[in-house]
Amino acid sequence: MTAKLTQLGHYIGGKPVAGTSGRTAPVFNPALGVATTEVALATAAETRAAIASSRTALAEWAETPPLRRARVMFRFRELIEQHAGELAAIITREHGKVLADARGEVTRGLEIVEFACGIPQLLKGEYSDAVGKGIDSWSLRQPVGVCAGITPFNFPAMVPMWMFPVAIACGNTFVLKPSEKDPGCPLRLAELMTEAGAPAGVLNVVNGDKESVNTLLTDPGVDAISFVGSTPIAEHVYRTGSEAGKRVQALGGAKNHMVVMPDANPAEAAHALIGAAYGSAGERCMAISVAVAVGDAGDKLIAALKPELAAIKVLPGTAEGADMGPLVTREHRERVLGYVETGIQEGAKLVADGRKLSVPGHEQGFFMGPVLFDGVTEKMRVYREEIFGPVLVVMRAKSLDEALGLIERHEFGNGTSIFTRDGGAAREFTRRVAAGMVGINVPIPVPMAFHSFGGWKRSLFGPLHMHGPDGVRFYTRLKTVTARWPEGSKGAEFVMPTMK
Ligand code: NAD
Repeated sequence: MTAKLTQLGHYIGGKPVAGTSGRTAPVFNPALGVATTEVALATAAETRAAIASSRTALAEWAETPPLRRARVMFRFRELIEQHAGELAAIITREHGKVLADARGEVTRGLEIVEFACGIPQLLKGEYSDAVGKGIDSWSLRQPVGVCAGITPFNFPAMVPMWMFPVAIACGNTFVLKPSEKDPGCPLRLAELMTEAGAPAGVLNVVNGDKESVNTLLTDPGVDAISFVGSTPIAEHVYRTGSEAGKRVQALGGAKNHMVVMPDANPAEAAHALIGAAYGSAGERCMAISVAVAVGDAGDKLIAALKPELAAIKVLPGTAEGADMGPLVTREHRERVLGYVETGIQEGAKLVADGRKLSVPGHEQGFFMGPVLFDGVTEKMRVYREEIFGPVLVVMRAKSLDEALGLIERHEFGNGTSIFTRDGGAAREFTRRVAAGMVGINVPIPVPMAFHSFGGWKRSLFGPLHMHGPDGVRFYTRLKTVTARWPEGSKGAEFVMPTMK
């Protein structure tokens, strides 16, 4: 007889709430290849209960002065720091990424909380004295209302924290629907928010699948939606949420190119590529999955990559010295292995073949080793589609212009980078490249908390990026006031007022 798994439920109204739908999904430990817990999948009614709780909490929270809201964020920041090890351990257990990387993710989330601590300053409006005789005008930003966040499996701490700290600091309340693959960390973050002093209902977590997502997208109790995940779902979220009259930002998939110029140091470029392509087993929206070698850079790059590839330690995320852990689920591993097969059939040259890798003592784990393809062309599916695994493809381009053309024509435009010692080439690249985030000799140019994160083309639906200044814009409504204190009525005015 198999033991019954512990069930993770929801977090509504400041406390854990058990699921009642009877529908569940397994939560795996990918290094062991077995389900260690299960998560409840909410019904539409359970999702509506979370929305109603956030709506009830809204009026008082929106009226709470920004300084007081900031104090909750300061306490939340302290709690994240105190619990960073525990949060990272949950991430590694459910996602599989190595512990140090999980710690890094927690830190990147914490930095958004630090940004949100400055909310009184960030919400300071603009004031114009004397826009007319005896008339002043000012602009202020007010909360949008109840905001919902739908997040992917690959950053169970950081991506929720791209959203809710900024939304809540702005005076909104928030319903988070995290990935059903690794719900443990988001639930723990909600508990810590309560401990930090967030009133009940300010942050609710509802676990589920498309039933709860579609309820959030259409229920009139939700005013704004933030989404991060794959492009087909991002597009669905954007269309459905917009049609229901909500403001929506939906971040999608990626295929990030790193351009290696002939003057780049091959060893440095290879070193950067290894971490950027295979870190977190390639399950990062900012992972580099395409290297474009310009001129004669290709052979030198492949030669420099080979020893680095051989040195990558693929181990359980908790193991000492692990560089890369397993993939998140068996199905995802099968999908990635399928792409390797496709690449071979398409005629790409397999330089490193991690398909057969097995980790002693963890034979059931969802592991695979790094894969490197050379001689990849624009028509191949391994180039055009997002694989989201430890697969790097190398392409050759005659010139920077040709490399820029490849990036321009690709469906996605999340991040990109250039490795060069030529300032002119770097300048041309940053100005012309069709992507939202650009690195110069930095392989993964993830913007810091006080800048905004987002891609171009089908990597982002909606006009505003996440966190930083765009986060504040997204989670607030602008109001502009024009005021006069008349000293006596001059009668009705029928002509547009202008300054003489
Ligand atoms: P996913 O699209 O499968 O899931 C994301 C969220 O959508 C989850 O909460 C999931 O429950 C929900 N969902 C899934 N199917 C749905 C459906 N049919 N209807 C409604 N909701 C649905 O993505 P994932 O596999 O969890 O994450 C990986 C993807 O996320 C990759 O494509 C990656 O590039 C992308 N991602 C993008 C960014 C970015 O900043 N652009 C960041 C992280 C991840």
